Amino acid sequence: MYTLIVDDIHKKFGAHEVLKGISLRARKGDVISIIGSSGSGKSTFLRCINFLEMPCAGSVTLGEHVLQAPPPGQRIANPRELTAARTRLAMVFQHFNLWSHMTVLENIIQAPVAVLGISRDEALARARKYLAKVGLPPAVENKYPAHLSGGQQQRVAIARALAMEPEVMLFDEPTSALDPELVGEVLKVMQTLAEEGRTMIVVTHEMGFAREVSSHVVFLHQGRIEEQGPPQRLFGQPSSERLQQFLRGSL
Ligand code: ADP
Ligand code: MG
Repeated sequence: MYTLIVDDIHKKFGAHEVLKGISLRARKGDVISIIGSSGSGKSTFLRCINFLEMPCAGSVTLGEHVLQAPPPGQRIANPRELTAARTRLAMVFQHFNLWSHMTVLENIIQAPVAVLGISRDEALARARKYLAKVGLPPAVENKYPAHLSGGQQQRVAIARALAMEPEVMLFDEPTSALDPELVGEVLKVMQTLAEEGRTMIVVTHEMGFAREVSSHVVFLHQGRIEEQGPPQRLFGQPSSERLQQFLRGSL
């Protein structure tokens, strides 16, 4: 029924409780936007979904894989489950996080070959397919990231995520490091992915994207879900005072 179930995630850094029990469910094809002011815990939450950040409590269920946060100070009980679940979640970061010493093609085929174990030829075919999907021409294949614009680099990062053929894609403010004139090309790719029925969790400052493209919007405030719902209601009739402030740009 649900592709992804995130249940009651807590996260502390020292004494600072950054996430105070966050749950979320996504069905196949859902596009969930996470909004909230800086420091509200959006990135930490996204990183807890793939255990890039170890939650202090809570669980993440992805198909048959169940990841339970280990008791404080202990390691995760089932590291193989973690590896398996991670191959089905792909993350796109604010700062692209491409390997600077690898060409575009090498960046894209690295994980499918090393982690999924597919052949180099198959990985190359996948890489070319997804480069075309994100609207990049074959001429970029052998370039290094530094020779591409920010928008092109982020589209390579999206192609790299797609090449893992993940069940869920996680995006952490994928356009906020871009020059304004490059934001549109990345949002357009993301909109296409959403229309194709990909399941996406997107932390974003782009309220237009959240409003037009997502199926569900979650507003985080100080580590809690303050309000959530369909975008029309959340943006049209926000009930919480804090969300109203946030949408006015005064939080
Ligand atoms: P957002 O993405 O919404 O801006 P973050 O999840 O990055 O928020 O951060 C939430 C809070 O957690 C902030 O107060 C931040 O300083 C703190 N925080 C994030 N990562 C760490 C860390 N590795 N160590 C200590 N505090 C952290
Ligand atoms: Mg963040």
